[in-house]
Amino acid sequence: MSYEEEQIKYLVKRLAEAEARIQALALGQADAIIEPLSAAPILLRQAQKALLRSESRYRSLLSNISTVICELVPEGNVIFVNDAVAKVTGYKPEELSGKNWWEVFYPGKLRGQVSELFNQLRLGNVSEREMVLAARDGSPRTLLWNYIKQFGQDGRIISIIGFGSDITERKRTEDSLKAYALRQAAVADLGQKALAGTDLKELMDEAVRLVARTLDVEYAKVLELLPDGKELLLRAGVGWKEGLVGCARVDAGTSSQAGFTLLSNEPVIVEDLASETRFSGPPLFRDHEVVSGMSVIIHGCKKPFGVLGTHTTKRRKFTGDDIAFLQAIANILGLAIERRRAEDERASLLERERNANQAKDEFLAILSHELRNPLTPVLGWARILNRHSTIAADAQLFEAAKAIERNALSMARLIEDCLDLVRIAEGKIRLEKQVIDLNQIARTSIRAVETTIQSKDLRLEVKLSPHDLPILADPVRIEEVIMNLLTNATKYTESGGLITVSSSRVGDEAEISVEDTGIGIAPEYLEQIFEPFRQGTSSWLTSRSGLGLGLAIARQIILLHGGRIWAESSGLGQGSRFIVRLPLAQEQSPGQAGGCSDAPGSAVTTGLKILLVEDSEDILELLKIELERMGYIVLAATDGQAALELARREKPALVISDIKMPGLSGYDLIQLIRQIPGLESMPAIALTGLGMREDIGAALAAGYSVHLTKPVDPDELGRLIRWLTAGK
Ligand code: ADP
Repeated sequence: MSYEEEQIKYLVKRLAEAEARIQALALGQADAIIEPLSAAPILLRQAQKALLRSESRYRSLLSNISTVICELVPEGNVIFVNDAVAKVTGYKPEELSGKNWWEVFYPGKLRGQVSELFNQLRLGNVSEREMVLAARDGSPRTLLWNYIKQFGQDGRIISIIGFGSDITERKRTEDSLKAYALRQAAVADLGQKALAGTDLKELMDEAVRLVARTLDVEYAKVLELLPDGKELLLRAGVGWKEGLVGCARVDAGTSSQAGFTLLSNEPVIVEDLASETRFSGPPLFRDHEVVSGMSVIIHGCKKPFGVLGTHTTKRRKFTGDDIAFLQAIANILGLAIERRRAEDERASLLERERNANQAKDEFLAILSHELRNPLTPVLGWARILNRHSTIAADAQLFEAAKAIERNALSMARLIEDCLDLVRIAEGKIRLEKQVIDLNQIARTSIRAVETTIQSKDLRLEVKLSPHDLPILADPVRIEEVIMNLLTNATKYTESGGLITVSSSRVGDEAEISVEDTGIGIAPEYLEQIFEPFRQGTSSWLTSRSGLGLGLAIARQIILLHGGRIWAESSGLGQGSRFIVRLPLAQEQSPGQAGGCSDAPGSAVTTGLKILLVEDSEDILELLKIELERMGYIVLAATDGQAALELARREKPALVISDIKMPGLSGYDLIQLIRQIPGLESMPAIALTGLGMREDIGAALAAGYSVHLTKPVDPDELGRLIRWLTAGK
């Protein structure tokens, strides 16, 4: 109890004593009240005056303090109430005198509450109690009460005196601080969920739950503006009748609060829907007896996503703070929705790009395959023509045959490059790694292009490291890369220029570089040239380059080896330098490059029967000639069925078969051949235009011993046959 209240309590006690004495005096019971009675009447008058002075002092004090002081009989009727009650409640003391306190201030509340309070007081359970009463204007006022009891002579409580401090403002501040904190927490909570990438539907459900709980309302909803812009769909909500969320639609015009919110482009507050004139409430509201509510726009990047609204069946005056809270929630939803849209767009773009890439790779694979078939006879016949004595005798024809072979070969290389690129893109490239000296690979590559360099009148300087540079690598692939760099250097350097090949150890890496004094590369193309189908100039038509695949493949191969490759140039006309770095392998003596070595005893074996199956008669004829030239007896078949017959009858020493054939495929054929007694382990070569890893796997799984892709070099084929049939 505060000091002021202690004082008041004391004064009230003194006042009660004084009143009792005055009453006694008035009743002539001075002898019973005033002691000692023997005192002179003067003393009595003095006492009377003193009492009156004291009483007036107390009364003036009582009327001027802000604490409400009231005395009630057990039933609740007012015996006394001070002036402070008027300021707090709007009722004057004289209006309350004799009235029942509870009926005035707690209309509709049970009388039982009064007796309950008295009971608790008697038991001494009440010290301080916060009670909210309704003032004359209906507004709620919170008073913090302290009580003292007045006992009758029989020891029963005859009245209680209550001291009520008006704490309405303090409560209001406390409540609004609490509400503010709650709202902040709700906004932070939703923001965190949005950042964590919570599913959109879940986020909307959480948003409406938070709104309803924090604002203590029955209904909350997220309405999504449908693409036609004419209706809004109830996407998420709390309080609404079952089955409505996800289905119910409201008009986006002025017949709904949401529609009006979108049209007016600002938050809308409704205190009483019945008297609303700006829009007519939708049936959804009428069905749910909505009285008050507010709604805000959920903004989107290009157009609004929809509306966030909240409604109640009790009349309520929503405030600016309420709107600010609702808008904060709507903004989080808007940002989350936008982010998801952007992510979806990105994903679909990526998907489209992936599909396009896949389609491109598939196209490249099919095209390469289809080009290989016609190329095989072109190349083969060109070789035969080159060797033919009639052609060799005629210089022009000989040159023509040479040109055909040269161009067919370069076309075959292009096709191989395209397929390589597809294989790399699909992760289907197989590396045969071994520890090998990078210098050794460099020397092999240099040997391969030396003649071309010399024929263009270029100088070549080789500055290889005197020490071994062991790397764990596929020598064929690395050789391919270095040769590509050397070929480019030759291609892009004018006669008389210089090409320098250097190698060295740089930290724990082996480096090889190819430098030239050629046309150089503009800075903006230094990176671009490593992309497929990109040249170091903006115009493909005017450039003297090829398809732009070499460096793209080179980079992929180097990356697959855990290394890097890049280009340096001071600009156009300043020459270029291509650098490759590869991780050094643990020191050990470098092995020899692997690959298909020649078969033991490379002498031509004659008289062996080879079953040759190929649906393209051109290719069949060509291969037949080549094989017969090598001394083999060729059993030719243009389809699987005929081949099967020949196999049964002739029991060949080896079979070479195409895969893609009408009727019986090459896979079926070998499986059937394997069932023929004596041919279970006969060597078989699949010779196809299909060069992907799974094609190779499928051929081997079907029963072939080796897979070769067209066009095949006859010498290589011969070597392979000798190797497979060694000992036969
Ligand atoms: P291609 O040479 O078949 O066009 P590459 O992938 O090997 O394909 O090279 C891509 C591009 O890089 C070339 O078109 C060329 O513009 C540029 N380039 C490559 N090497 C050199 C070089 N040594 N000097 C100048 N430009 C080069």
